[in-house]
Amino acid sequence: MKTLSLLIFFFASMITCKETTTVYICNSPGAKKYHNTSNCRGLSNCTYKIVKVDIEKAKKEGKTLCGWEK
Ligand SMILES: [Zn+2]
Repeated sequence: MKTLSLLIFFFASMITCKETTTVYICNSPGAKKYHNTSNCRGLSNCTYKIVKVDIEKAKKEGKTLCGWEK
């Protein structure tokens, strides 16, 4: 029984370790950048909605890390 709970713990920690990075993008048609923080300077002039997306999704859409983040 103890082994089982250890196994469950093991798998649960594996799931939480596999974290996906969430980035922020301005939901405008012309937005080409993603941001690590929602209060980034690059997002301050966003007149559209700021949305949270998976970093892989942002990259797939051709977005690159915003210049203010470096
Ligand atoms: Zn930014």
